[in-house]
Amino acid sequence: MSVCECLLFLHAFTGCDTTSRVYGIGKATALKLLRHNIEFQDVCKCFITSASKEEVIQHGERAMIMLIGGGSTGNLDTLRFQRFNAKVTANTTCVQVHTLPPTSAATVFHSLRVYLQCQVWIGNTSLQADEWGWQMKNGMYVPIKTNLPAAPEQILNVVRCNCKTNCDSKRCTCRKNGLECSYSCGTCRGISCTNSIQIDESVDDMTIYTEKS
Ligand SMILES: [Zn+2]
Ligand SMILES: [Zn+2]
Repeated sequence: MSVCECLLFLHAFTGCDTTSRVYGIGKATALKLLRHNIEFQDVCKCFITSASKEEVIQHGERAMIMLIGGGSTGNLDTLRFQRFNAKVTANTTCVQVHTLPPTSAATVFHSLRVYLQCQVWIGNTSLQADEWGWQMKNGMYVPIKTNLPAAPEQILNVVRCNCKTNCDSKRCTCRKNGLECSYSCGTCRGISCTNSIQIDESVDDMTIYTEKS
């Protein structure tokens, strides 16, 4: 498969209007990989031909591992754990969760959205968004980020903030740890700040949201 044919996949996988970008990975990096790595080109194939969900999920995970330099690591969760350990041993300050590789579960939904977008671009409009990484909420399609909790419940219960300023700065403990504010937060209660899930109902029903990166 030629590099040219893989560009649609590359653009969608690294972030476009309907898909998230991958933290720390620019399009130039991805293009370099695509040009020099036959396995990566091979993985692209399934997104721009016709593939089953299982194939998309499997190839998407492989693509993500290659993109973030995971080499022959078998799965993203292992890679995430390895990178976490490396960061913990390298410095004593807190590990910024958003700098770790995405989880396998989150990548599943990313890959599904990428496939859907590629298919739409090449003219296949027969797929249903809610089968491919999106869900309908209040009349709008919003991306499904993952189907697992962000952390074990015991941890989620101890991470909370007490911001008086809308949780929009790095000083917000929840934000700093890559978590959305929750009902256990002192002031915002996870409903009234910039770090909680909110849907702007004033926007047109057909709007498709770009995922927060
Ligand atoms: Zn806060
Ligand atoms: Zn908050």
